[in-house]
Amino acid sequence: MATADKYITFEAAYQFLNKRLFDNKLEACVITLNCDGVRKAFFVKNSFKAQDGSETRDEIALNPDIFASCTDVEILSTLAHEMVHKWQYDYGKPGKNAYHNKEWAKAMKRIGLKPFNIVKPDRETGPACAHVIMEDGLFAQVCQELAAKKIKLDRQLQKPSANKKRKDKRK
Ligand SMILES: [Zn+2]
Repeated sequence: MATADKYITFEAAYQFLNKRLFDNKLEACVITLNCDGVRKAFFVKNSFKAQDGSETRDEIALNPDIFASCTDVEILSTLAHEMVHKWQYDYGKPGKNAYHNKEWAKAMKRIGLKPFNIVKPDRETGPACAHVIMEDGLFAQVCQELAAKKIKLDRQLQKPSANKKRKDKRK
């Protein structure tokens, strides 16, 4: 009997990647689907605070407008990229203004993502960095497992603004 597709939320995807790529070291993080123009995603330390100041939570913001044209693997790799920023804030030495430094680049490669500087692609560090998935890396392996189990990202959870343009087009 064929197994049906199983859909998981971004939060569940975060927990899964935390377990498989970061030894469950990362604390819970608020994942928002923020439309923010050109950026694919970003990480903010202590973005959320309890009213009495007793508790804070970090934020990973993902851009659903860009994701509309991305595969699940691409989206997960972006989530993992931001999780490396979180790992570095909690366990390493982050560069100023989310600068992608050598330690970050090393951590990226450890989980199977090869970083590159968008402006100077022969470099692995700099203010604006993207990544490619290493074929034989841990990240690629984890994605193969998800595909084998027919686990897909639930993309229903989008801001209405992200869907608006598409709806208008249909008219
Ligand atoms: Zn980054």
